[in-house]
Amino acid sequence: MSSKLVAVVTGANKGVGFGIARALCKQFDGDVILTARDVDRGQQAVADLNQEGLRPRFHQLDITDADSVNALATFLRDNYGGLDVLVNNAAIKFKDDSPAPFSEQARESVRCNFTGTLSVTRALMPLLRPHGRVVIVSGEKSMGAMDKCSLERQAEFRDPSLTMEGLQSLMAEFVQDAAAGTHQERGWPNTAYGVSKIGVTVMVFILTRELAADPREDIIVNSCCPGHVDTDMSSHKGPLTIDQGADTPVFLALLPPGVGGPKGQFCRLRKAEDW
Ligand code: NDP
Repeated sequence: MSSKLVAVVTGANKGVGFGIARALCKQFDGDVILTARDVDRGQQAVADLNQEGLRPRFHQLDITDADSVNALATFLRDNYGGLDVLVNNAAIKFKDDSPAPFSEQARESVRCNFTGTLSVTRALMPLLRPHGRVVIVSGEKSMGAMDKCSLERQAEFRDPSLTMEGLQSLMAEFVQDAAAGTHQERGWPNTAYGVSKIGVTVMVFILTRELAADPREDIIVNSCCPGHVDTDMSSHKGPLTIDQGADTPVFLALLPPGVGGPKGQFCRLRKAEDW
């Protein structure tokens, strides 16, 4: 078994995730596991980084597939005996002009962006060693979506006693209300992606509350916005390069041992935002 430190990046075959894997290969003192749901696309990304003299390892990971998530956890346990950095980057976003009905957009966005991210996090966080870092790539759209929720919904998300089960119920309620066509009258905004990203931002607040009772030392979880980045997701309209988009996620992934903060925050441009 390797005694090296190890970092995992999800959805790293392209876009911001690829930028994060590249930066970690340069800055992280350990192995970087570049993961992708499609093996060919993932291995191509590894080959591209090899061309730059960088040496990530590849592992398949579809965040919506429990077997795939469990296989990665087993790989990490067997080969490294733990984990040091997890960057949850993978996500989907329907295009603004997508013909998919809103009910489908709600179901699939929550299934991948919220439930998939939670499943990876729940499977891998137990492997984290002291000083482990978890980053969840959320987005500013989570703030915009929160502003468009009714005051009652906002209060539900901001409730300091909200549990992960409670958050999962809220996300399931959004999907049900979208299926019934009643989501707006029931206090939800008309953005499936935005609500899924509220979910992951609030997930970090709950994980941080859970960590208060965790005996492991100095484990930190944060979420962040990478900025508006030139990727397939943004239809290449973002002004930032993927390396610029990777800056805040990588900064949070590499927070040094014993750092004062940010902890349990939503960050933008390396700084905690008042969410
Ligand atoms: P891209 O669409 O360019 O890349 C998304 C990545 O996620 C791809 O590698 C994709 O794989 C992967 N992915 C999607 N679904 C799954 C899944 N089920 N399992 C594993 N991997 C999956 O998006 P970006 O790089 O732009 O976005 C990266 C992150 O940044 C996302 O969380 C996004 O919400 C966030 N963000 C991006 C912004 C931007 O301006 N680009 C702004 C704010 C936030 P595949 O190639 O197989 O589809």
